[in-house]
Amino acid sequence: MKPTPFTYHVPNTIDQAARILGSDPENSRVLAGGQSLVSMLNLRLVTVGNLIDINRIPGLDYVRVEAGGVIVGALARHNDVESSHEVRRALPLLTSALSHVAHSQIRNRGTIVGSLCHADPAAELPAVWLALDGELTAQSEGGTRTIRADEFFISSFTTTLEPNEVVTEVRFSGTTGATGWSFEEVTKRHGDFALAGVVTLVTLKNGAVSSARIVPFGVGSKPIRITSAEQQLLGVSASAIDDALLDQVAAAVSAAVDPANDIHASEEYRRHVAGVLTRRGLRRAIDDAQQRA
Ligand SMILES: Cc1cc2nc3c(=O)[nH]c(=O)nc-3n(C[C@H](O)[C@H](O)[C@H](O)COP(=O)(O)OP(=O)(O)OC[C@H]3O[C@@H](n4cnc5c(N)ncnc54)[C@H](O)[C@@H]3O)c2cc1C
Repeated sequence: MKPTPFTYHVPNTIDQAARILGSDPENSRVLAGGQSLVSMLNLRLVTVGNLIDINRIPGLDYVRVEAGGVIVGALARHNDVESSHEVRRALPLLTSALSHVAHSQIRNRGTIVGSLCHADPAAELPAVWLALDGELTAQSEGGTRTIRADEFFISSFTTTLEPNEVVTEVRFSGTTGATGWSFEEVTKRHGDFALAGVVTLVTLKNGAVSSARIVPFGVGSKPIRITSAEQQLLGVSASAIDDALLDQVAAAVSAAVDPANDIHASEEYRRHVAGVLTRRGLRRAIDDAQQRA
């Protein structure tokens, strides 16, 4: 199938892009790497009157590490970030997660911002961004605003980004002190979307857990923090975190997620795997944090 006819716009500046978008927001889409949008247009899952290709806008392909966090422009490709030594040093969790996104050819074109805006519930980066307290900058004709990761995702493929807004930059916050991490997912083949995945972050202070993040993905309509599970770890000495406590936390995650039952996997399987990955991921994150302490 081919897309329905559209007008192809190639703005040279973000202001121009925002102006074109603002002239007919409900009938326009931004094109970045095209790794999701082009197939959706071809399948007519999405139809547009205006396709706004931002690839010719200079200066949007930056990747910077600042204060331990990572700042990525709207045209930085997955591979730009994955291959950055500075990013690997600052946020190895992000580098590790990127290696699970599709295949190298797709990561050569696909952008970090595009992955977040696409908001596939089984995608890796939205969960990492949420776990790392991310935020992004969105621009419209009316100005710019900041949207936090925890207020961005509404449901599958739906976000709080307004149709007249173009995202210019996304930020992943740095971790502090003795913070360990893990990225776990189960896929049918390497490079597939996750059947279930879990991102964890654990920070230790004086040997006890001062902060924990548990963010499953692929097991609901969007990535979410399971705060009821996180709280069970707070204040507990790392050396006292035994199998019984990890089982309890994993059970809380399995109970909290809301997975789909589809041709790829059953709801029960995904729920079970979310718990298994939580348990495994937390053990790794705690060991990692202890080594950094
Ligand atoms: C075979 C295959 C396997 C894949 N496997 C995975 C996988 O395992 N995990 C995974 O996460 N993804 C996977 N993907 C999807 C893909 O990696 C990402 O969704 C894609 O890279 C998104 O970035 P993009 O730049 O290509 O976005 P595009 O396709 O250009 O756009 C995606 C959406 O984001 C919007 N958008 C993009 N940039 C902006 C912006 N600056 N401002 C406002 N809106 C914007 C577009 O309008 C569109 O709605 C796979 C894709 C393919 C083809």
